[in-house]
Amino acid sequence: MHIIFLTLYPEMFPATLGHGVAGRAFQQGLWNYETINIRDYATDKHQKVDDTPYGGGAGMVMKADVVARAIDAAFERSPKAQLICPSPHGRHFTQAQSHHLATTHASVIFLCGRFEAIDQRIIEHYQPLEVSIGDYILLGGEVAALAISESMLRHISGVLGNAETHDDESFMIGKDCAGLLEYPHYTKPPIWNGYSVPEVLTSGNHQRIDAWRREQSEQITARKRPELWKEYCNIITPEGQKNPKGSD
Ligand code: SAH
Repeated sequence: MHIIFLTLYPEMFPATLGHGVAGRAFQQGLWNYETINIRDYATDKHQKVDDTPYGGGAGMVMKADVVARAIDAAFERSPKAQLICPSPHGRHFTQAQSHHLATTHASVIFLCGRFEAIDQRIIEHYQPLEVSIGDYILLGGEVAALAISESMLRHISGVLGNAETHDDESFMIGKDCAGLLEYPHYTKPPIWNGYSVPEVLTSGNHQRIDAWRREQSEQITARKRPELWKEYCNIITPEGQKNPKGSD
């Protein structure tokens, strides 16, 4: 996967993506990235990238002409890339969307906004995929682009080693919709601070362990994320049945 970050702060990258699993995958050539400084596409002597909003009001707006030249430069490098604009206007980013993007696009371009907004004509003209990482306002799109990238990289073949494989991960159960939260984990020592590990996990009985984990996932999801649980209960299985727990 090739990622281009369009940003006013190229020095913010690769940040988290240069470390741990993502950093190792980068060294192995499983993904790469480049940054394009939007300011390099300003043409006036002050390298102005923003201006006051038509109609008045607070904040500055990123100029359409400058941003467009930066986007065009990114598409020249990666003509088939999916353009993504992190934005509070987008739909909430999900594990399903992350998986879809990572497995259907070999390259993505992130347009990281700053200031009050990007001139709306950029959105109309390029029709980026607008993606929100939650109902709160950040100072810029960089952290969102990093979060989305980090999530997508986990779906690239070879990025996660066998030990880190993600079949059981929260949200992964259920194909096109949010699944269950993951069951709890424990490691040595067997007793810590008076708390012991659930007996079933040391039983060696894999059927019992699987059943316990499933049960825990269901209970935790119902308790902590009732809306996810409700959605999960309405999944129609391949056999045309609703999840039997739905009637609980
Ligand atoms: N005035 C805008 C917010 C601008 S914040 C509004 O009220 O909707 C500046 C930039 O931060 C945005 O262009 C976007 O790239 C990024 N951003 C802010 N909040 C975000 C969120 N929840 N998800 C994704 N990107 C976000």
